Amino acid sequence: MSSPSAAGSPGPPAGVETNHPLWRLTTVRTGGNADFFAAPDSTELLVELLDWARRSGLRVGVIGSGSNLLVSDDGFRGLALKLSGDLSGIERRGTDVVCGGGARLPSVAAKCAGWGLSGLEFGVNIPGTAGGAVRMNANAYGGRLADVLHRVEVCSASGSATVEPAELGFSYRHSNLTDGQVVSRAFFSLKEDTTEAIKERLAEMRAWRRDAQPSGIKTFGSTFKNPDDSRADGRSAGQLLDAAGCRGLSIGGARLSEKHANFVDNMGDATTADVIAVMSAARRRVMEKFGVTLEPEVQVMGDVEWPDDWRQSGEPEVDQGDQGPGRGLDLG
Ligand SMILES: Cc1cc2nc3c(=O)[nH]c(=O)nc-3n(C[C@H](O)[C@H](O)[C@H](O)COP(=O)(O)OP(=O)(O)OC[C@H]3O[C@@H](n4cnc5c(N)ncnc54)[C@H](O)[C@@H]3O)c2cc1C
Repeated sequence: MSSPSAAGSPGPPAGVETNHPLWRLTTVRTGGNADFFAAPDSTELLVELLDWARRSGLRVGVIGSGSNLLVSDDGFRGLALKLSGDLSGIERRGTDVVCGGGARLPSVAAKCAGWGLSGLEFGVNIPGTAGGAVRMNANAYGGRLADVLHRVEVCSASGSATVEPAELGFSYRHSNLTDGQVVSRAFFSLKEDTTEAIKERLAEMRAWRRDAQPSGIKTFGSTFKNPDDSRADGRSAGQLLDAAGCRGLSIGGARLSEKHANFVDNMGDATTADVIAVMSAARRRVMEKFGVTLEPEVQVMGDVEWPDDWRQSGEPEVDQGDQGPGRGLDLG
């Protein structure tokens, strides 16, 4: 484990743990430990932690539900944060709903149905948090986050700021938030409807998902983004992987699902290296067959070894914790 920095660096705020296992905070269940870990339950504590990390020269990584996250087998040399308490609450204010960044979207969708508030039904099929959904610009059949997101509270080492969705640079599965910028609250504007009608839509969406995707496996959902490439001829990443013979492809404990080729399945004892290896083999097959370069949707925490051919075609557009200057949302 690395030390927070040179002599004289500030001690950690109360509640910071060391050498904390991260695999169980992810849905794919692979990866090592974080040097430092905390579960802040207030904006004040979150800002204090971010400020401590900055002054100590530590990288910061936020874990929501870990449903789109691959943690390095070597772990994370920095401070991993998981929002809790007030920062994972769900509160109704008229037809608005305020969610802590750590609030789970399926719970938000269920609560909104009970309140007779419509617009977040699509969250029932996204096993992530409100904060993770904002960072990833998550969408699903039946709805788009950006259509109902009203504003966001973002914390950084400098404090908290209110941000309009237009400032977040949303594009396909992307926002301009960087690792030191944590979504502590998301404000949604919804419409009134009957609980019955909303629950019916939730049931339809669940059924659609059950038919289309594997359930009960350890996965992080879509591995690769759908390509924006004419050679893909309108096909999704899953369709290209399927046509390239990747269904069921396995390396070590990691396999591409038989039901949906774009879903990695940890068959029990997979390591993150196995996952990277199967992703690389599949990506190579698609490149050879169609000339299409697939880019990962899954985010990476910690340092992983990408294969040579991957590096040669440019660094994958995955989050490796770079907090370099000039990137991302300007919080002033
Ligand atoms: C079975 C399955 C189905 C899925 N279906 C869909 C789908 O239909 N549509 C879709 O868009 N996605 C889908 N996903 C992917 C995933 O659920 C979404 O990307 C989700 O938004 C990730 O949220 P999370 O809280 O799990 O984030 P994590 O996986 O924990 O983290 C993802 C990224 O967000 C960052 N992050 C997390 N919380 C915060 C925060 N509070 N502030 C700032 N950054 C944060 C992390 O640092 C990381 O970079 C699916 C995943 C699975 C396993």
